[in-house]
Amino acid sequence: MSVRVGKVEFGGADFVVIAGPCAVESERQILRTAEAVAEAGAKMLRGGSFKPRTSPYAFQGLGAEGLKLLARAGRETGLPVVTEVMSDMQVDLVAEYADMLQIGSRSMGNEALLAAAAASGRPILLKRGMSATVEEMAEAAESMRQHGNPRIVLCERGIRTFGTATRNTCDIVAVPLLQRLTGLPVIVDPSHATGIRELISPVARAAVAIGADGLIIEVHPDPDRALSDGEQSLTFQQFRELMGDIQPFAGIWSERRNGVCACA
Ligand code: PEP
Ligand code: MN
Repeated sequence: MSVRVGKVEFGGADFVVIAGPCAVESERQILRTAEAVAEAGAKMLRGGSFKPRTSPYAFQGLGAEGLKLLARAGRETGLPVVTEVMSDMQVDLVAEYADMLQIGSRSMGNEALLAAAAASGRPILLKRGMSATVEEMAEAAESMRQHGNPRIVLCERGIRTFGTATRNTCDIVAVPLLQRLTGLPVIVDPSHATGIRELISPVARAAVAIGADGLIIEVHPDPDRALSDGEQSLTFQQFRELMGDIQPFAGIWSERRNGVCACA
């Protein structure tokens, strides 16, 4: 089944790239990023405003102010926006500004949040819990369906394993598995899956090749000064390069998906 967010369709004829900063930091930062990613071919804008951080001392996001800035950047560039909602009590506020609600990895098992997010009627981007199995993720999606909201896109964002060389371990095989198991569109988040800038493009290419429905990528005007996740954020130039890198794979993707041969 395909999921529409404004004029964007996940699981349809086009591969969908979502891009933007980890967190909304300022008006200038989000507007500049929105313009750059739109120009490079992104179809949706991301940006966290309520940030689930591992450390209580880390930047927690701009809250309601960030939601307004994100919505404005989306309007000005024509990109629908997705942002995280961390608690059931925030759902009404976030749903007022966001075109799509993101349920983060740390929240995948939060039943109260799943129910409230589903009830909002907004499409949902459900990220895989960092220690969740594929079956548990499918069940979380099923729970939202039972709460009356079938508009769900799943996101493989890496899981915790014994490996320490990358931030998480990208479980790329989860993509076709979840597609088969749930019938829902599945996208990949190479930024959180690897935590390493240089690995984002290779994982993005793997995601397209394996038949994912899209990508979500962190992009920042000045990653070294980012208030969160700078080490895994791409510069505007690097994001343009990534969009070029996935092109050949996207061509093949489109042929397979739409049955059109572009090779003649
Ligand atoms: C994010 O996308 O900003 C984020 C916090 O991701 P995750 O929930 O996958 O860690
Ligand atoms: Mn992040």
